[in-house]
Amino acid sequence: MNHDNPLLADDVLPAFSRIRPEQVAPAIDELLADYRDAIDALTAPAAPRDFATVMLTQERLEQRLARAWAPVSHLHSVADNEALRAAYGPAEEALTEHAIELGQNRALYAAVQAVADAPEFVRLPRPERALVEHALRDFRLSGVALEEPARTRFREIGVELSRLSTEFSNAVLDASEAWHEHVTDERDLAGIPESGRAVLRQYAVDQDLDGYLVTLKQPSVQAVLNYADNRGLRERVYWAYQTRASDQGPDAGKFDNSARIEKIMALRHEAAQLLGFANAAEESLATKMAGSPTEVMEFLHDLAARARPVAQRELAALREFARAELKLDNLESWDVGYASEKLRQQQYALDEEQLKPYFPLPAVIDGLFGLAGRLYGIALAPREGVDVWHPDVRYYDVRDADGRVFAGAYVDLYARNGKRGGAWMDVCRARFDDGAQLQLPVAFLTCNFAPPTEGRPALLTHDDVLTLFHEFGHGLHHLLTEIALPSIGGIDGVEWDAVELPSQFMENFGWNREALDLFARHYQTGEKLPDELFRRMLAARHFHAGLFLVRQLEFALFDFLLHLEYDPAAGARPLAVLDEVRKQVAVLHPPAWQRFPHGFSHVFAGGYAAGYYSYLWAELLSADAFGEFEERSAEQGSVIDRTTGERFRREVLAVGASRPALESFIAFRGRRPEPEALLRSHGLA
Ligand SMILES: [Zn+2]
Repeated sequence: MNHDNPLLADDVLPAFSRIRPEQVAPAIDELLADYRDAIDALTAPAAPRDFATVMLTQERLEQRLARAWAPVSHLHSVADNEALRAAYGPAEEALTEHAIELGQNRALYAAVQAVADAPEFVRLPRPERALVEHALRDFRLSGVALEEPARTRFREIGVELSRLSTEFSNAVLDASEAWHEHVTDERDLAGIPESGRAVLRQYAVDQDLDGYLVTLKQPSVQAVLNYADNRGLRERVYWAYQTRASDQGPDAGKFDNSARIEKIMALRHEAAQLLGFANAAEESLATKMAGSPTEVMEFLHDLAARARPVAQRELAALREFARAELKLDNLESWDVGYASEKLRQQQYALDEEQLKPYFPLPAVIDGLFGLAGRLYGIALAPREGVDVWHPDVRYYDVRDADGRVFAGAYVDLYARNGKRGGAWMDVCRARFDDGAQLQLPVAFLTCNFAPPTEGRPALLTHDDVLTLFHEFGHGLHHLLTEIALPSIGGIDGVEWDAVELPSQFMENFGWNREALDLFARHYQTGEKLPDELFRRMLAARHFHAGLFLVRQLEFALFDFLLHLEYDPAAGARPLAVLDEVRKQVAVLHPPAWQRFPHGFSHVFAGGYAAGYYSYLWAELLSADAFGEFEERSAEQGSVIDRTTGERFRREVLAVGASRPALESFIAFRGRRPEPEALLRSHGLA
C-alpha cells in the first residue's frame, strides 16, 4: 500500500493540508480494485454465509472507500479549484459505476439472502437484522432479483427513464433561457427593490446589453411577480414562466415536455409492476415511513380540509385589500404575489435589517451549543491544531455528560470563493465498530453566512439562524447515533419522508422565546430581543399560512395521484388530474393555459416521484415531536427540558435506521403523529 498518499492512510481525521488532486485517481483506483477482489472472495462458493463475513465485510469496504472519498468530495464543495475538479469528475464516475455494478451483483445478492435464510438470523441483534433487510430490499428495488426477460427489461427502463428525466430538465432549462425581455426605461421596473434591479442589470451586462434584462431565472421571476408595479410585465413573466416547456406560451411546442411526461409515467408504471407493485406510488412508499397510499391520501386530504377554509379567508381578505388599496378589481394569478407582498408590508413592516443586530454569529453558536447541552447533556469544545482546509474552519470535540469524547464536527460558516453556496451537513466519518476498532462519527457543518467586517461580528438574519439550527439538527442525528453499522446509522438508511425530522425539529427553537433568550442580544447594547419585535416576527411567520399549505397540498396530491391512479389504457392525463386536484384543494384557479406539470422537475426529473408529500410529512413529525416538549414544559416549567431531551435522543436521534421511523416516533411520543401539530405550527389550530 502506498502510505505517501494521505487518502490511503486511514487516519482518524483526514490530513486536509496534504491532500493533492493528483492523489485522487490512484487512491480510488486502488480502493476499488481491493473492493472488487474482496467481493469476489466473499461470494466465492466456499466462503461462509454469516453476518460477519458477508455484511460486516461490506461495511468495512464501504468505510475504507468513504474515508478516502469524504474529504475529496468535501474539498470539491468548499475549496474547489480546476485541478481538483478535473480529478473529481472521473473518480466520481468510477464510484457511480462501481455502485451500479454492486447493485446488479447476483452472487452478492444470493450471499445476503443466505444470511437472512440461515436459522441464526432471528437471533441476531435488531440493528444487524435491519442491515440485512435493508440490503435485500435495495437489491429487489434495483431489479437484480428479477428473472429473465423481466430483468433485462427492467434495466432498459432504467436507462430510458434516466435519459428522459435529463431531457425533461434540459427542456425546462432551454425554455427558461429562450425567453427574456430587455428593459431600457427604468420606470418599467418601478416597485422592484434595488437588490432585485441589480440582478436584472447583471443579466443585461452578461449579454452585453445596456439597461436591464428580465429573465425566467428564479431571482428575476420573484423580483417581478412580488414587486413590479407594472402589471403588464408581471403578466408576461407569469405567462412565459408558467408555460415553460409546454404546448402553450411564447415558445409553444418548441420545448414541449408533454410526450416526455407520458413516456415517463408509462415506464414508471411498467417498472413498478415488474417489481410486483400495483403502481409507482406503492413502489415509492417501499423506502418511506408512510405505510400505504391510503395513509398518504388521508394525510393530505385531512390537512386540506382544515387548511382550505383558512386559505379561503386569507384570499378573501387579499382580494379586498387589492381592490381597496391597489385598485385591482380582479385579482389575477400574476397579481397574487404582488398584492401579498404589499399586504405583508402594511401589516408587519418587518425588516430583516432590524433583527440582524440581535443575532451576532459567535453568540448564536454559543447559544445553539448551550441549547444542545441543556437538551442532551453534551458539550462541544473547540480543539486547536486540527488539520483543516481554511483558517475560518473550527473543529469541535463533542463530549457526553461523563466527559468522554464520542464525536467531532468541522464547522465552516462563512461564504468565500471556491465554496459552493447553500448550507448542508455531510458525513466525514460514520460511527463504525468493525469488531477490532471503534470509529467515532464526525460531521461537516457548512454554511455561507456573510463574514464579519472590521470591528463588527458577523450578523445573521433570522432565516440564517433557522438554517444553522436546521443543519445542526442533521448534525446531531449523525453525531448522537449509537448504531455502529454505518449503512443504518445516523441519517443513513432512514426513510426519506422522516429524515428531515431532527433538522426541522431544531428550527422550532429558533421561534421559541426561551431559546432565543439564550443568545439573541444586541451586539452593541447587550439588550434582549424586544417583545414588540418578537411579536411581529411571530405574526409574520404565519402570514398566508393557509394559502401556502393549500399550494403545497396541490403539488403533493397531484404528484401522488398521478402515480397512484395511472392507467395504461387512459395514459397519464396530467392536466385532468391537476384539474381534479384543484377542484378539491385549491382556492386560486390559474388560467386554462397554465402548464404547471411541464416544469415540475422535482417529480419528473428529480427524486420526488410520488414523494413530494414528504415535505409536509416530515414537517408534521417535527412539529409533533416539538409538541411533546411544549406539553412537558407545562410541568417542567421549561421547553428546554433535559428529561424529554434525553428521551428524544434515545428514541429518535440514537437509533438511525435500525428500526422503522414510525416505531421510533411512537416510542418517543407515545402515539402516532397527529395532524393538529402541523396546523398549530402554522398558526392554524
Ligand atoms: Zn435538511
